[in-house]
Amino acid sequence: MTSSSLQFAAAVTIPDHLIGEVHSKLAYVDERIAKAHISPSGDQITLELKYAIPAAERAAIEEKVQRVVLSMAKGAIRPKVQVLEDYLDRPTPFAADPMPELLRRGELFQEAEGIYALGPLFTRLIEWFENRFLQLADSFSARPYRFPTLIPARFLERVGYFRAFPHSLSFATHLRTDLDQIDAFAEGASCDEHGHLKVPLESFAPVRTLLSPAVCYHLYFTLADQTLPPQGVVATAVGNCFRYESLNLHSLERLWNFTMREVIFVGDKEFVLANRELARQRMQRVFGEIGFAYRVESANDPFFIGEFRKQAAFQSAFQLKYEIRARLPFKDGTLAVGSYNYHQDFFGRHLNIRLPDGSPAHTGCVAFGLERIAFAFLAQFGFDSIHWPSSMQEVFG
Ligand code: 5GP
Ligand code: ZN
Repeated sequence: MTSSSLQFAAAVTIPDHLIGEVHSKLAYVDERIAKAHISPSGDQITLELKYAIPAAERAAIEEKVQRVVLSMAKGAIRPKVQVLEDYLDRPTPFAADPMPELLRRGELFQEAEGIYALGPLFTRLIEWFENRFLQLADSFSARPYRFPTLIPARFLERVGYFRAFPHSLSFATHLRTDLDQIDAFAEGASCDEHGHLKVPLESFAPVRTLLSPAVCYHLYFTLADQTLPPQGVVATAVGNCFRYESLNLHSLERLWNFTMREVIFVGDKEFVLANRELARQRMQRVFGEIGFAYRVESANDPFFIGEFRKQAAFQSAFQLKYEIRARLPFKDGTLAVGSYNYHQDFFGRHLNIRLPDGSPAHTGCVAFGLERIAFAFLAQFGFDSIHWPSSMQEVFG
């Protein structure tokens, strides 16, 4: 028998705090899955497949799903969520989903899933937030950097990225430097009805480079095998970041290609932690001035299945990550628009960045997702300038 949907009991009940995390990983289980649903009780999983397939193949998909469930949920301990700021209840004037209006106004043009061009209002709104982030960076006398969009595979290898986040990698390659290959490509390259380039894999050079998943890594690599000055390093940069999100790429909430502004601290433990805390307090004032509805709470990175349980518990136990979660009134939910991160001496050890006493440096960063913060702002304040804070009227030009 063939069928295009699949329902079964989860091998262990998925605790409610993990339902979102497990659900987002189901997007990577099998290319034939069109949609996945986990019941609110955490014990029923329903998959919609793109087309009907035989029972034996459905069983194989189910087995892969159970692998995800078991490795992420079995024996999982509920992290204690620590809330540092809670302004989720601030009244905001807008309640609709901004996506349809953004598309109608030509403020958003979808090039492909997770890839958008942004129009003038959106761009000016991002610039308004960028100015606030630059003021934050200035308050620390952060030194400005520009980093490439590409990152060498060996950089990411050195910091264990392949093991932690294999699912979200994006690879960059080029045609082999061979005249026959290049001529054949120029003559015959075309896209099929799914937009896939019809080119034999052998035409491509071996992958040595990826699209960068984060901004601060580039700074750490510039500091590798060096001793830091006694006062430490504070830097800032904005850059394109890439995280492939499979089925999770919908609306501006999740993009394959997004932009991140970071303020980065490298020094001893106290230096990094004190600056991370100062940055949080300074941003609290900025968000307060515009009446932004959000909260700051402890969080973990979206580690892949095999690493998830251990790493997420570690981040939670040592309070390594806090997210700024903005309210999205239209869905009664929240969206991470930024994060306050502390990596301990992880990069210091792996990249041999040393403090003047020879011990490994500690690092931390404050990262803002520019598209997300503008999207969350529009979701809370809408499109009518009357309802916007007076300090933001300039966005309307
Ligand atoms: P983090 O380093 O904490 O994972 O990411 C920092 C910020 O970048 C997040 O808080 C978020 O605002 C933004 N970001 C991370 N992943 C995505 C994504 O898939 N799409 C978008 N639009 N922003 C993202
Ligand atoms: Zn960072």
